[in-house]
Amino acid sequence: MTKFIGYRCSLCGEQYSPTDVTYTCPKDGGNLDVVLDYDLIKSKYKPEDILSRTDPSLWRFLPLLPVTPPEGNATPLHAAGGTPVFGLNRLAKRLGLTNVWLKDESRNPTASFKDRASAIVVARACEIKADVVVTASTGNAGAALAGMSAAVGQKAIIFAPRSAPQAKVAQLLVFGAKVILIDGTYDDAFDLTVKAADEFGWYCRNTGYNPFTAEGKKTAALEIWEWWKHTHQKWHEQIGIDVDHAPLTIFVSVGDGNIISGIHKGFKDLYQLGWLPRIPRLIGVQAEGSAAVSNAFHAGTETITPVAAKTLADSIAVAFPRDGVRAVRAAKDTGGTYVNVSDDEILKALTQLGTVGVFAEPAGAAAYAGLVKAAGSGLVGSEDPILVLNTGSGLKDVPAAMKAVGSAPIIEPTLEAVKQLL
Ligand SMILES: *Cc1c(COP(=O)(O)O)cnc(C)c1O
Ligand SMILES: [Zn+2]
Repeated sequence: MTKFIGYRCSLCGEQYSPTDVTYTCPKDGGNLDVVLDYDLIKSKYKPEDILSRTDPSLWRFLPLLPVTPPEGNATPLHAAGGTPVFGLNRLAKRLGLTNVWLKDESRNPTASFKDRASAIVVARACEIKADVVVTASTGNAGAALAGMSAAVGQKAIIFAPRSAPQAKVAQLLVFGAKVILIDGTYDDAFDLTVKAADEFGWYCRNTGYNPFTAEGKKTAALEIWEWWKHTHQKWHEQIGIDVDHAPLTIFVSVGDGNIISGIHKGFKDLYQLGWLPRIPRLIGVQAEGSAAVSNAFHAGTETITPVAAKTLADSIAVAFPRDGVRAVRAAKDTGGTYVNVSDDEILKALTQLGTVGVFAEPAGAAAYAGLVKAAGSGLVGSEDPILVLNTGSGLKDVPAAMKAVGSAPIIEPTLEAVKQLL
């Protein structure tokens, strides 16, 4: 525990001790970065100590995490992370690219990237002996919190917009969380959750508000680092080029901006430890109708101007991104950028991923849509190593998937009817 030494405000730089604050900077509301004692970590561990661990879940990175895993009756549900990476060779070829991989976060316990954040926040909730954990959610953050809470016997309350996809609401209810649907947007649910947590003394998990969500999300970067270390070796032997000249480029969809800033934090931790020579290039992908972070990035400012969020990719429909400043920096500081994609492009990407056996929800497919666009505009070179994150499962939003592919024909159960159809 001593490796977690406090927080630093991402806006004013003020440092706080672990017990001074809980959520954001009291002075300016800035997002807090968790500060780790890198010297202590370095003195106790080498990369090999982590890479040789047998636990495939995110808990293999415990030396770099600011919490301890909950003890006792945690079920396997608690073991988020350890998601697979595989080549998208056929799709890459069509785009004129040679080295494209996908990391499939839909394989997490509740089928989205959000499990990483909730695993760490629930661990923190257990440490501080919180009675109730609450979150606002478009669906996935809530499902992840409800699932993780169920796994350790923690009480959870979820505020979601009433428009949240049915499958996500079903997950919340099945996991036994108290579910409150808001006649309003995700942003309305967010503000209400903060107020309710204050009023009733609940522990609030809200994305881009609770500093521990980014610490969970950074574990994807730690896994990418580990995977890249292995591939790097092979790469060297097979292709014989110096990969230090071609940084890994990562495509990630962005709503509140907490996934991209969490991934950035993970790479920064590794860099600070001297375990990573160069931070990969991060490219954020936003829906055209919900592009507040992208707008700020391209305007060259850290001032986030809210938009009227409109996209069928519900998980990234955010009017006022709560981690916008760090999300702008994630692209800026790594030589990356932001790409906007239309709902049509998202649905096309969803069906293309389907042709190689990946079923993504719209917000997950958005990252691949961003790659398609980037390849078309020369933002990535044909030999660049590229990793695309699929952040959520298509089973979460079946109506959106049906919109992308249309419906199947229905025929009489006769061979004649089959022949006619074919
Ligand atoms: C939450 C979410 C995102 C975006 O993450 P942010 O931290 O809000 O930027 C992307 N895809 C899916 C499936 C999500 O659930
Ligand atoms: Zn501050």
